Amino acid sequence: MKPDILSLNLDEIRSLVSELGQPKFRADQLYRWLHVSKVASFKEMTNLPAKMIAELEERYIVDPIRLVTYQESAVDGTRKYLFALPDGNLIESVRMIYHHGISVCISTQVGCRMGCVFCASTLDGLLRNLTVGEMLGQVYAIIRHTGERVSNLVMMGCGEPMDNYDNVVSFVRRISDENGEHISQRNITVSTCGLVPKIRQLKDENLQITLAISLHAADDEKRKALMPVARVYSIDELLTACREYYDENKRRLTFEYGLVRGENDSQAYAEKLGKLLNKYFDHTHVNLIPINPVKERNYNATETAAVYAFQKKLEKFQINATIRREIGRDIDGACGQLRRRYSEGNPESETFKK
Ligand code: SAH
Repeated sequence: MKPDILSLNLDEIRSLVSELGQPKFRADQLYRWLHVSKVASFKEMTNLPAKMIAELEERYIVDPIRLVTYQESAVDGTRKYLFALPDGNLIESVRMIYHHGISVCISTQVGCRMGCVFCASTLDGLLRNLTVGEMLGQVYAIIRHTGERVSNLVMMGCGEPMDNYDNVVSFVRRISDENGEHISQRNITVSTCGLVPKIRQLKDENLQITLAISLHAADDEKRKALMPVARVYSIDELLTACREYYDENKRRLTFEYGLVRGENDSQAYAEKLGKLLNKYFDHTHVNLIPINPVKERNYNATETAAVYAFQKKLEKFQINATIRREIGRDIDGACGQLRRRYSEGNPESETFKK
């Protein structure tokens, strides 16, 4: 299978152009077609010589993302896109409308191997990592489809970003690059279930992104019951790494806390969480997520009144707690509802197979 050219950075494009015996300026032209004009085929690159186009076509595909279908929420206009990859796998991305602009949520892996008990993305395990081009391609496909400018990006779709570390870091650099789409790193959130060594590594990458930590519990026992990753890293190890990350980057972290009815949503838990976070941070931000239903799982969201009570309790600890607006739930496009799917036998995606 041919690799996707979107994955190449500018230096790699330059080497390719020189390998093809083309003058240097062709590299900038090619890069612009790919990352500014975002064309989906080499044929559309009208200022490149035919010979170069033919040679590129022989070696690469332009765009690894094919739009299969999309659903739009009747409630809030959220769109969930189903995209086919060159190997026939299917991934999902979500485009949301907020008052401050358009936000896109992308997937970082086909499936996920982290096993969080309330999440649909992990039900069938991990198939593979996405390439840099497949991550860029999700954003570009949505831009092409809507004609909108994307101001915010969240890496909260299928997959664990820190389990695809190199590609995710390259992707962040590329999507924020001024020669490309140029989404400010400050408007990019990477969400992780807490792979401690990777958080340590990320600390030294000098990125301006927001790091979101899926915490979901205030003690190891409860966290282990909800997230298998907690059996490997204790909450203390995780929060120590988070503190080091903060000290190095001075970027506020967000802690995500999914409220599961009867599991982790009592007033006592709120108090425990408040005390825990205050041990490591002076002021911190908690994003409360009433858990979204996943049909294979038997977890329910906390009732609204209890969500507000939990928030109020955290505020007593000087913690800024926000409640995530559950948008896109009617199209299964909300947090934890995205899933891995195959195209085999899926007539919609047959036409996109190369
Ligand atoms: N693997 C990464 C990012 C993907 S999930 C991570 O764990 O952070 C993005 C967020 O959605 C995470 O905080 C995740 O815990 C949360 N989530 C998973 N399943 C959910 C569900 N059913 N309802 C609400 N949030 C969920």
